[in-house]
Amino acid sequence: MYLLNTNNTPGLKMRALIIENNPAYRDMLEHSFAEQGFDNDTGDSIEIAREYAADADYDIICVNQDLKDGDGEQFVAWCNEHDRHRDTPILFLTENTKLEPQDLEVRVDGVIHELNEHQIEDQIVHFVELHLDPVFFEGRILFVEDDEEVINDILSQLKETGYQVTHFRTAEEAAQEFDQVEVYGSHTDAYDLLLTRLKFKETMSGDELIERIRSYEDGRGFIPIIVITDIECDERRISLYRAGVNDFLYKPILHEELMVRIGNLITNKRLLDKVHDIRRELFALATTDKLTGCHNRHSLMEFSDKFIAQAKRHEYPVAMLVIDLDHFKAINDNHGHAAGDEVLAQTGALLNRSFRDGDLVTRYGGEEFVVLMPHCNGEDAMAKAESVRVAIEELKPCGLPITTSIGVSSMEVGVERDFEALFHAGDEGVYAAKENGRNQVVFVGLD
Ligand code: GH3
Ligand code: MG
Ligand code: MG
Repeated sequence: MYLLNTNNTPGLKMRALIIENNPAYRDMLEHSFAEQGFDNDTGDSIEIAREYAADADYDIICVNQDLKDGDGEQFVAWCNEHDRHRDTPILFLTENTKLEPQDLEVRVDGVIHELNEHQIEDQIVHFVELHLDPVFFEGRILFVEDDEEVINDILSQLKETGYQVTHFRTAEEAAQEFDQVEVYGSHTDAYDLLLTRLKFKETMSGDELIERIRSYEDGRGFIPIIVITDIECDERRISLYRAGVNDFLYKPILHEELMVRIGNLITNKRLLDKVHDIRRELFALATTDKLTGCHNRHSLMEFSDKFIAQAKRHEYPVAMLVIDLDHFKAINDNHGHAAGDEVLAQTGALLNRSFRDGDLVTRYGGEEFVVLMPHCNGEDAMAKAESVRVAIEELKPCGLPITTSIGVSSMEVGVERDFEALFHAGDEGVYAAKENGRNQVVFVGLD
């Protein structure tokens, strides 16, 4: 792996040189690099590439094989021979799907085959992650300070950088701001760093602010904290580290040091955000049915016991709908499996938007859905089921008339039942509805 090179100076953005003949691809590449925080120089010929590269350093060079005035390989060879670009990661683009880096006579660090248009952006993200150490020179900083001299000093030092600074004069105001904002993942209004002093003229101290922030159980509690101080006492410093302070800045504040300390902590925070985002995505993938967007059966099994246990503990009813599409096999047989899938997808979307946020809408199997509704008794569930039956009848996905048979069961307050009992009754309801001519709702009581 390359260490981020020449331009890895705090306050400066990364730069990419993009040499690509095809304007549409060039736009896409430029967009893709810009999204990742690069400033770009672009061109379509070896001549332009050399002009740029003669007196600029780049963090990545991205070259197409087929250029206006020759083969991109010539320019790569030129880069390989120049000290300035000898270690710069080079990404080679080509329409030749068989070409691999080792097939070239020059050193490139990755090849992207332009035919895989939809994958290009992903491949660029991957290439950048692989070849550059991420350092974030942008982010939102919450700055709390009441000393005019320090305020002016820090604000002027951070002025020409990619950091966005929100400044408060009291710890109270900062605490209020924290109560309101989300400080988690990739929210645009999330803060990435708290920069604060400890002693304030007003009542709330920096120590109290830090204690309060670290007590949040959501993402806000993880924000990195730098304390501006002149404390020399080891014990006090150690106790502040224990309280959750990540780093200190001593006055007078040196610009380079300020930038490096901020850059390090924000980078770590952003990487951690990424891990949290990925974890959330994985969780969504594991619990969602891809075709319909509903929860999957695994998710129902995982959560249903908790739903029911909570209803018992807090003494509210839970209802269940078991929804089975009528004669669905005929749709597949007469209109093809793809049409069948589309009908399922549209039905799932309808169900997803028809229920309350706290309800668990799941695709139980093929063309069968199960909905668990906390705070809903049997009577209300019957009314809801009837309105869903009508909505599905009116949906006409792919122009096809479809109907459903719905079984309803409920656990009323004071009656203890488990998931199996509810499901068994709901399923019996579906069976009875089918027997009775389909396109109807049947309630089956548990007692
Ligand atoms: P009934 O009114 O008695 O419920 O009849 P039905 O045809 O709906 O019921 P049956 O259980 O006989 O058939 C269900 C069909 O659903 C059979 C199966 O091929 C189809 N199916 C299950 N999963 C999927 C899927 O993911 N996509 C598609 N297109 N069809 C599916
Ligand atoms: Mg069916
Ligand atoms: Mg079925």
